[in-house]
Amino acid sequence: MSMTPLPDAQERVMDLVRPMETAAVPIGDARRLVLAQRVVSEENIPPFANTGMDGFAVRAADTSGATPEAPVALSIAGTIAAGSVADRPLQQGEAMRIMTGAPVPEGADAIVMVELTEVDADDATVLCKAEVAVGNHVRPAGDDLVAGTVLFEPGIVIGPAHIGMFATLGMTDVAVVKRPRVGVFSTGDELITGPQPLGPGQIRDSNRPQLLALVAEAGLEPVDLGWLPDDEAVIERALRDGAAQCDALLTSGGVSMGDFDFVKTLLRRLGEMNWMQIAIKPAKPFAFGTILGTPIFGLPGNPVSSAVSFELLARPALLKMMGYADTQRRSVWALADEPLLRNPDGKTHFTRVRVAESIDGPPRIRSAGGQGSHQLSGLAMANGLAVIPDGPGVQAGDRVKVLLLD
Ligand code: AMP
Ligand code: MG
Repeated sequence: MSMTPLPDAQERVMDLVRPMETAAVPIGDARRLVLAQRVVSEENIPPFANTGMDGFAVRAADTSGATPEAPVALSIAGTIAAGSVADRPLQQGEAMRIMTGAPVPEGADAIVMVELTEVDADDATVLCKAEVAVGNHVRPAGDDLVAGTVLFEPGIVIGPAHIGMFATLGMTDVAVVKRPRVGVFSTGDELITGPQPLGPGQIRDSNRPQLLALVAEAGLEPVDLGWLPDDEAVIERALRDGAAQCDALLTSGGVSMGDFDFVKTLLRRLGEMNWMQIAIKPAKPFAFGTILGTPIFGLPGNPVSSAVSFELLARPALLKMMGYADTQRRSVWALADEPLLRNPDGKTHFTRVRVAESIDGPPRIRSAGGQGSHQLSGLAMANGLAVIPDGPGVQAGDRVKVLLLD
């Protein structure tokens, strides 16, 4: 069977999935989701002119000529805390003590910050030690947003500051592309979970926790669907149940050439299924398709392979389901600090590397550790995947494209 070039595989996977429908969610649940409505400010933000400093509200003209040596004395006509308003307008020759965020009283047009003032012992008079201009430290109404401004258009990815803006505007819910629920299975008779001693031939299941974390980190909702034995009937039941509960499924293991690789055969029987050998290392085998209309990604079992397969194939498709326009990891050109050698084999290699920024040039990379597809420790030390084209590898000083993992 010939190997499929990675871009072809990626295109076929992307063609399989569609963005989720839209729904209103509480603004606190909207992080990482794609906005599906226009957001307009109905009000001025800030809603009223207020002070950006603790100090005294004054008429700028009254401070004319004030210096530290020759301060101007103004009579204190009250105190305005944030959340309250002055009980009367400010008159000529007066100052009102005012706290950050409090409304500037009628009649005042500037703030003298507290550091430039001195209050006399009986709290009746304040000495202003500097002349201030009209508008000094005053934040006018609508200074952030004028009523009627279109703030956000559909399509943006919602982050913490957007959520803060929704709250500022008094929104409780926001229309978004729904967050997909992604079910994760591990398969393999050799797998156990937990601290108990390993029996002969057993290893601990690392893919399921890793994939659940990758799903969560990409902004989707992970659903732990547990472990499956290498038993075709059990796997079939579990995949059907999972497909009914979730918007997408991930399995690990059971998609290569072994005698007990039932995921592959099952997918072929149950759904519209594609199985391919992709021209990459690690993560050559990959199965994908739909079961009961739910997309399913059959990732390889080796721990590094399942993670790299997720990165290159599942993650972009899942982000497309989230409604993202940009589904790709950021990539940079880096300089190899050491040779990253490989053998020609018709595949693109994704070498686990440490990427270090440098102040006077491109980032630098070094191998992050063992490069075997079973050597998860090397991936755990890595923050990038260096894309090493087919051939003998790269020499120290060569330019290399790197996908950034963080
Ligand atoms: P398979 O693709 O099922 O043939 O598995 C390939 C390799 O990955 C074998 O060495 C498995 O033991 C290992 N493997 C499969 N699933 C997991 C898992 N969930 N956690 C750790 N290793 C796994
Ligand atoms: Mg297996």
